[in-house]
Amino acid sequence: MDGNIHQPDMVANASHEILERILCPICGPCPTSLIGTSNRLPVSRCDGCDLIYVSECPPLNSTHAYFREAHKKDSQSTRIAYVDYRKKSLQREAARIRRLMPQGGRLLDVGTASGYFLRQFRRHANWQVEGVEPSRVSAEFARQTFGLNVHEGFLSDQKFDEAAFDIVCSLDAFGCHRQPREDMLEFHRILAPGGFLAIEIPGLWFRMLTSSGWIYRKPADRTLRLQAGVNFFYYTRATLTRLASVACLEFVESYPEGLPAAGNRITLTARKAYDVAAAGLYRATGGHLNLCAKELCIFRKPVAQIPAVLPVTSDSQSPVYRRAG
Ligand SMILES: [Zn+2]
Repeated sequence: MDGNIHQPDMVANASHEILERILCPICGPCPTSLIGTSNRLPVSRCDGCDLIYVSECPPLNSTHAYFREAHKKDSQSTRIAYVDYRKKSLQREAARIRRLMPQGGRLLDVGTASGYFLRQFRRHANWQVEGVEPSRVSAEFARQTFGLNVHEGFLSDQKFDEAAFDIVCSLDAFGCHRQPREDMLEFHRILAPGGFLAIEIPGLWFRMLTSSGWIYRKPADRTLRLQAGVNFFYYTRATLTRLASVACLEFVESYPEGLPAAGNRITLTARKAYDVAAAGLYRATGGHLNLCAKELCIFRKPVAQIPAVLPVTSDSQSPVYRRAG
């Protein structure tokens, strides 16, 4: 699953469905400010935590049906988007993630797409890897092309054992999760104490500048090119860290990542030059000035068991949370 590479006809048909109001997964009920629309869906910023998200969405079962059947329609588009364009990034990220745990371990990739990332662990016998992928076409591609163990469906369908994995990854897919708070809590549950969570997110400011900045918008309708209906949450490192902390996952480190390798030789050269410049700026500012196309954020589940946080309802309807157990 990938929130950035898309086909023009693949957005869930929002205009004919009753939309559901979405609460901020970090703050719960909290005032929001509309910043524009994308694919006719409202995109808002939470006044409490600055998370930008699609504040009214098609029903969950409609979104799930879309990702299962329509997001990727054939193996060729899976290969182009998730192998050819992403090879270098996925190789680099696999090497970084292996270094987190040199002794190896059990790894789950959620939204594994083509499986090319998991394939990078094949030569390392100390790793046992498996994936989850909602797209029937992509899951089949990963099984047939790379011989991987890929479960078709969503994370919530799988019912993995508690502490079943040492590392859980989600590469350029988490922004497509409609229920990120629940999935973050599930990441915590299935991770072993001391285990790592690696999430790659698109660079929000890169997207806003290159495809949704003011010079690209129609002044009258403030249309944003954010693929709402495929993407639902537009994280930064700061907002992702806030959401992870809800599940008692601690931020460890982050890395700049580059653009997909799409285009002719001139385009590729220009993209590479941009990536080098943006990564330099990222490193020089400790990631605070982030114009990179992607960013890999690493979190850790503390070794000491801390129960995850669950929401409770209060009479005042204010966002109150308590620890489970
Ligand atoms: Zn919020």
